[in-house]
Amino acid sequence: MKFAVDLLTAGRYLWRKLPPNRAIFTQRKHGFQNAGQQSLSFRRFSTSNRHFGSEKVAILFDLFKDNQGTVPVDVFLQDLQSTGFKKSDPRFKKMIDNLHSLSRELGETSIDRLTLNEEQFEKVIKDSVIIISQALQNSDIVIPDFPEFCKYVENFYFKCKANTSGKPAEYIPQLAKVNPEYWGVSLCTVDGQRFSIGDTKVPFTIQSTGKPINYAIALSELGSEVVHKYVGQEPSGRMFNELVLDQYNKPHNPMVNAGAIVICSLLINLIEPNLAVSEKFEWVCNYYKRMSGSEYLGFNNATFLSEKEAADRNYAIAYYLKEYKCFPKNAVLKDTMDFYFQLCSLEVNCETVSSIAATLANGGICPLTNNQVITSSSVRDVLSLMHSCGMYDFSGQFAFNVGLPTKSGVSGSLMVVIPNVMGICCWSPNLDMYGNSVRGVQFCEELVSVFNFHQYDNLRHSPHKTDPRKRKATAKASEMSSVLFAATNGDIKEIRRFYLSGMNMNRKDYDGRTVLHIAASEGHLNVVCFLVNVCKVDKTIKDRWNNTALDNALQFGHQDVVDFLSSN
Ligand code: GLN
Repeated sequence: MKFAVDLLTAGRYLWRKLPPNRAIFTQRKHGFQNAGQQSLSFRRFSTSNRHFGSEKVAILFDLFKDNQGTVPVDVFLQDLQSTGFKKSDPRFKKMIDNLHSLSRELGETSIDRLTLNEEQFEKVIKDSVIIISQALQNSDIVIPDFPEFCKYVENFYFKCKANTSGKPAEYIPQLAKVNPEYWGVSLCTVDGQRFSIGDTKVPFTIQSTGKPINYAIALSELGSEVVHKYVGQEPSGRMFNELVLDQYNKPHNPMVNAGAIVICSLLINLIEPNLAVSEKFEWVCNYYKRMSGSEYLGFNNATFLSEKEAADRNYAIAYYLKEYKCFPKNAVLKDTMDFYFQLCSLEVNCETVSSIAATLANGGICPLTNNQVITSSSVRDVLSLMHSCGMYDFSGQFAFNVGLPTKSGVSGSLMVVIPNVMGICCWSPNLDMYGNSVRGVQFCEELVSVFNFHQYDNLRHSPHKTDPRKRKATAKASEMSSVLFAATNGDIKEIRRFYLSGMNMNRKDYDGRTVLHIAASEGHLNVVCFLVNVCKVDKTIKDRWNNTALDNALQFGHQDVVDFLSSN
């Protein structure tokens, strides 16, 4: 039933956007002109004995068909994308493939030019019905008003773009020569809604932003107990590349170089130890791919070679670790170091990192494929350490001001996780004195100054901040359809509840019809009495066809209601 009601809401929304000659207009108009028919249309959704999947297809077809009785694919895809879902989303792959083969079959040059009859429509969307319904219902998605949210993001983006302070890392030529003007922000919600602005397709090397990812893989494969025999959970309070161990002679945490190098040795030696290092590299890349839903992943060999060249400090750390027996048995120092440099040199773009961050925000399930890639307990551990140790020596201040688990890298990227909501990647090469992207940090500060995303923002009472997870217009609309539904069914208990919750009982629907109109049309005398005597509703309100509730009661022959309304 919820689906039916939501689709009615979606229908209304669509109706407003479609030209009045659309079939859906006629359908709706009739439905509401005659309250009896309105309840029929509810019944149609709920009691049909058609298979539920094909019923959904039929409803979707009705929603989108034009006055020729076919669905224009361009309109359909545009509406789908307006909620933040991309055509390239792997969950739509089958549908898009179906559209391509149909357009080839019909000799059409582009899928956007297709118009589908009901049979073709069903064939095309049948494998993607669930995700399409979710996208169009949009009341169930985490950021319901996605375009509005993106407007804010765009605004933050341009504010930060004006900030040209800081400078790129200089320790290797590949980072020193990058254009410092690059600036991109991508986000991906836990439902797979996506938005990108700026240089989000330009590749960069992941560097330390990959440390939590490598840690996540190790945790997911080996479990926390094994991993933390080798590496601690404390912020070091020292530089990320400092030659220092904790009181147990272990690296402080997996986010500093010492810890990350040890994680590399665990990946090589404790998980499928029979794999050659080359195979292990592919194996890890495959994890990255699955976490990102197959977004761009490459390898920058020049960076890898430079990293190896400029690695005195990292080698010093590695020998120090070796001296203190921090590596598992059989670890080969050179292999471990090469692996560490290779993983720093993986090439990604903002879209890759934002979708990996979304997988972390979503308990380890990639929102674009629905595959559980990382165990949820591992994700919790990763986020905890990103929160306390992810931003070098600025981690404490960042946790205080921004309050979001984030990891930065020397190439200027920031992987930001808003647990249960979304993942974000900011990338801009200019770094501050701590080695964090200047614009990236500013973006996070802007974000939490408007939205209540700080870990310790109160979700119920933060009067100066906005909660984009909340439904605004949608909430009102669905409240309205619920009360109208209750009136249709004569559900006095529900009506009472709405009245008690402070709802304005004179509120009109799109056709100017009130709860009283519906109750009178359906002949529910008890509801009519309650509305008039207790709620003191206005009986004189006319709908768009110029009818009062009394007119409706007369029209549908409910004499008891007519008597009551004319004498009270
Ligand atoms: N390749 C760099 C290093 O090991 C990574 C450091 C970073 O991104 N902060 O020193």
